Amino acid sequence: MAAGRVPHRTVKEELRANAMGRLRAGQPLFRGIVGYDDSVTPQIANALLSKHNFILLGLRGQAKTRLLRALTDLLDETIPVVPGCELHDDPLAPVCAACRARVAAEGDALPVAWLPRERRYVEKLATPDVTIADMIGDVDPIKAARSGLPLGDELTMHYGLLPRANRGIFAVNELPDLASKIQVGLFNILQEGDVQLRGYPVRLRLDVLLVFSANPEDYTARGKIITPLKDRIGSEIRTHYPRTRQDGMTITAQEAWVDRDGDHALRVVVPPYVREIVEAVAFAARADPKVDRRSGVSQRLPITTLENVVSNAERRALTHGEPLVVPRVSDVYASLPSLTGKIELEYEGELRGAEDVGRELVRSAIATVFDGYAARADTRPVITWFEGGGTIELTDSTGSTTLLQAVQGVDGLARAVAALDLNLKDGEPARASATDFVLEGLCALRKISRTEEGTLLATPSERKARDPRQERAAETLMDEDDEAPVKGKKKFYN
Ligand SMILES: [Zn+2]
Repeated sequence: MAAGRVPHRTVKEELRANAMGRLRAGQPLFRGIVGYDDSVTPQIANALLSKHNFILLGLRGQAKTRLLRALTDLLDETIPVVPGCELHDDPLAPVCAACRARVAAEGDALPVAWLPRERRYVEKLATPDVTIADMIGDVDPIKAARSGLPLGDELTMHYGLLPRANRGIFAVNELPDLASKIQVGLFNILQEGDVQLRGYPVRLRLDVLLVFSANPEDYTARGKIITPLKDRIGSEIRTHYPRTRQDGMTITAQEAWVDRDGDHALRVVVPPYVREIVEAVAFAARADPKVDRRSGVSQRLPITTLENVVSNAERRALTHGEPLVVPRVSDVYASLPSLTGKIELEYEGELRGAEDVGRELVRSAIATVFDGYAARADTRPVITWFEGGGTIELTDSTGSTTLLQAVQGVDGLARAVAALDLNLKDGEPARASATDFVLEGLCALRKISRTEEGTLLATPSERKARDPRQERAAETLMDEDDEAPVKGKKKFYN
């Protein structure tokens, strides 16, 4: 019997030993986790070394669930178990009555099964309607009747999620949403191995690492977590959003579906400034007082936005028969539908509406990023050209060739694009995107402007009282003596 040569150790001993091995070898504790090297990861290592149950406190979209799942990687590849046991009993130290009986009867002849680590992770999203039966188990009257055993006997029990996580990791997400009755049940089984099911006491000495996640405000709110359970949680570890735009971009690049595969898929090249702007939208949203900070702005926002940005560019390339997909800054505006659902608004934001808030976040993100690039370029001739009454008609569906033709006459635009020193080896789609970046950048900085319909105007005096916000923006650009542009002329730039 091979199990005889695998010494029994608890899950926490196993995780501690394997974490020690990683640390000693200079290997990362977790793969694919970005931005937590100096904060969250060392604290999780400490919790594992301490053999603590722990909780991750953080807002949504901070990779809490991902971190908990990654713990599986620190388990042994396989462990010996008694075949058929729902509790994955160790042949050397069985906890359930049935296995104890088998071990006593069969001794060394007892067969051994090997359980892979992926099957040793159990996860439950806490909701108020989770019951003791879900979490811990229930007395099964049919099983009792068939076996002829009394109802209180352990052998008549239908096991819930926690016992099924025996010898593994049990993760409860959003712990404060768990009814206090269930929290008491969790605590009892951890502390004493005891649980009352429908009044029958059942004793189960389980071996689990218990990990949780919660929103910090919910967790610290008085009365949300019963004190004895809180006492059993050895470490509280705070997660956070990416601290730098670069970290955010790395995560988004890792998660977003950008390289489109499948039949007839076109090659996708996402310019760096588009990635930066998408990430800057998330940073702007997290800092915006109109956005609810208690619920946070998930990293899923830049991820789904980037996917939608690529799709808008893909759609454009397909319509125009272009061989290459190069997203533009204007595609970020076109991706508002993937953005607005991911921000919870404060009252002031609600008044303005999600679409409006989203658009403003995109504008400020473009302004921030373009500002960093524009120092290299002289954009004044471009602004002057628009002030002189120049117009361009474009939308985010305009093909690359048409776009480049449309801007040919704009003074200084080609020079400004060249001065940004972007890698434009990908031909027309790349040059069209870079040109769009400059135009959108100038719009975002309010050096030039446009109406909601997309009409671009350098001196928007003719639009007075149509949109007070744009009028305000326009005032900063306007000179009292400026002549109003020719009315009645349709000018589109989008
Ligand atoms: Zn068993």
